[in-house]
Amino acid sequence: MLDKKKIKEKLEVERDILLEELRDMGKLNTDTGEWEATPEELATPETDQNDMADRFEDFEARSSMIKTLEPRLNSILKALKGLNRDSFGKCEVCKKEIEMTRLEANPAARTCKEHLEN
Ligand SMILES: [Zn+2]
Repeated sequence: MLDKKKIKEKLEVERDILLEELRDMGKLNTDTGEWEATPEELATPETDQNDMADRFEDFEARSSMIKTLEPRLNSILKALKGLNRDSFGKCEVCKKEIEMTRLEANPAARTCKEHLEN
């Protein structure tokens, strides 16, 4: 028997962690619904060339980090939305209940261990 309450709590904790990380690196574009890395502050006159290079790398790093985090957040949001549906916690391939241990490790899982996505 699936413990949906437990899964929901786990999902909400993970969602909040991801949101916090995303807010550190960017902001949500409310027009597109996508996260974008915040651009660097405009360079001050005393900023030298090395600083500029570092700042650019930081922006690139944030952009790629956001690209990693955003799909995770989206799959968690999707799982939270689907939590009350009968299909929640059932394997998309064989329709059997997904193992609780697997859902605990990854509450957004959509397949059982046997049909694990690679
Ligand atoms: Zn399966």
